[in-house]
Amino acid sequence: MLKGTGVSDGCGIGTAVVIKEEALDYSAVIYTSADEEKARLNAAVNTFCKKTENIAAALEKNAGEKEAAILHGHIEMIHDPFMVSQMQEQIDAGAVAEAAVETVCNTFMEMFAGVQDELTRQRVSDIRDIRDDMLRILLGIRSVDLGAVPPGSVLVARDFTPSMTGRLKKENVQAIVAEVGGMTSHSAILARAMGIPAVLSVPSATQAIRDGDSLIVDGFTGEILTDPDAQTVAGYRARQAQWDQEKEALLSFCRLPTVTANGVQKAVYGNIGRPEDVQSVVQNGGEGIGLFRTEFLFMDRASEPSEEEQFEAYSTVAKAMNGREVIIRTLDIGGDKEIPYLSIEKEENPFLGHRAIRYCLDHQELFKRQLRAILRASAYGNLKIMLPLVTSAQEIEAARQLIDTCKQELQNAGVAVRAVPVGIMVETPAAALISDELAGMADFFSIGTNDLTGYVMAVDRGNAAVAGLYDIMQPPVLRAIEMTIKNAKKAGIPVGMCGEGAADERLIPKLLEWGLDEFSVSASSILRTRKIISEQNA
Ligand code: PEP
Ligand code: MG
Repeated sequence: MLKGTGVSDGCGIGTAVVIKEEALDYSAVIYTSADEEKARLNAAVNTFCKKTENIAAALEKNAGEKEAAILHGHIEMIHDPFMVSQMQEQIDAGAVAEAAVETVCNTFMEMFAGVQDELTRQRVSDIRDIRDDMLRILLGIRSVDLGAVPPGSVLVARDFTPSMTGRLKKENVQAIVAEVGGMTSHSAILARAMGIPAVLSVPSATQAIRDGDSLIVDGFTGEILTDPDAQTVAGYRARQAQWDQEKEALLSFCRLPTVTANGVQKAVYGNIGRPEDVQSVVQNGGEGIGLFRTEFLFMDRASEPSEEEQFEAYSTVAKAMNGREVIIRTLDIGGDKEIPYLSIEKEENPFLGHRAIRYCLDHQELFKRQLRAILRASAYGNLKIMLPLVTSAQEIEAARQLIDTCKQELQNAGVAVRAVPVGIMVETPAAALISDELAGMADFFSIGTNDLTGYVMAVDRGNAAVAGLYDIMQPPVLRAIEMTIKNAKKAGIPVGMCGEGAADERLIPKLLEWGLDEFSVSASSILRTRKIISEQNA
């Protein structure tokens, strides 16, 4: 049995699909003749085009027209006469086909990365995909297409990036297993958003599990059983059926308002990372979006999403929520959220470093592009702006000033902008300790218990040796939460919670007692949270 951290509830029973990060090493390939290498190159280009064409066709059917268009673009690029002739020249000079592909693609990537034009810069990731795909074909390495795994698959990888999870079809995926990550890592957040059972932090999972192994993944306990006998499978199937029944029973809470046992109205919102996550929040009866983690839009790509692209994402969410509240958190990067193209300096202590609001205030053009996109999208719904990792009044003042400037610039250009409330995340001890002062400057608070717990307890949440201290029920964490809620109440501003604590059965009674207004949780926890609230007095 393997053991990790269960981060997304449910049991998955299925067949392992192991995604290995194969080294694209061609040092053993021997150059025979230019003709031979050119023939290998041509054959690889043909295979690449056929394979890409097939994936694009499948995507088109599944309504992913945009992604299909990107893949058609890849086919055009690999046929680009300049690119082809450059590769052939490399071969004539004695390079094997693999080296020709790598050298030429790298040159193109460097060229595009240095260009001012946003769209051209975005090409870098396209060329990287083409290069890696071509190398895999030439080296005969089978790659797993996450969008095409068969039903009943259990995906096993070192880590799942947002772009990997974005491609998978959740109806075909029984469970997810990864070697890294914890309860609050992005792969966990995405798994919960999609309702897929997941176990993370399983050491050497990609080695211990082989492709085709039959697996049981228990997202509650973090246990993974390989090649279980029929009796064990039957036991887990029964558990799965019971879990499905429990979920079914919760459906009655979908159309109900969130009310405590003694009749006090509350709200359960959903957390999202991508515009498409809105669907599951709505399906699960979420009354709003309490946290849109916008950094997901910036991850797994070669350059920053343009203002236009961001506007598209924010307005899509605003429209989908149809007048219900959507809290958009401004870029929360740094710490464990790396974005290579933003070239954040390597830091000794990234969690205490140049991250989130600190980084944005020091990169005003980047920050303004995001703020403008949000302000423009405000015309399409009920948006609020939320600032991450606030530790001082000055940060709120500076951000508000920048928001006012953006608003003014947009209005001068004749763009409709609504009044957008500006709130803060209380996720540092600093913000909690001066929450009386900050409550006078923010339109709302949202408590981020994932970071708050770590910072209050001085615990690195990834370090197993001190994991016992990373507990939301530790008295100092509770005191920070209580203080924050009470100061918000005193100032008369709404206060919510968007960290994992909002769905914690042990904490909810206390949150109700202290007066928390809004509980923002992952889509799969919305109904359970509403049920727990309905059983408690406020
Ligand atoms: C938090 O810190 O509680 C939070 C919601 O933000 P994130 O998990 O994205 O850091
Ligand atoms: Mg946080």
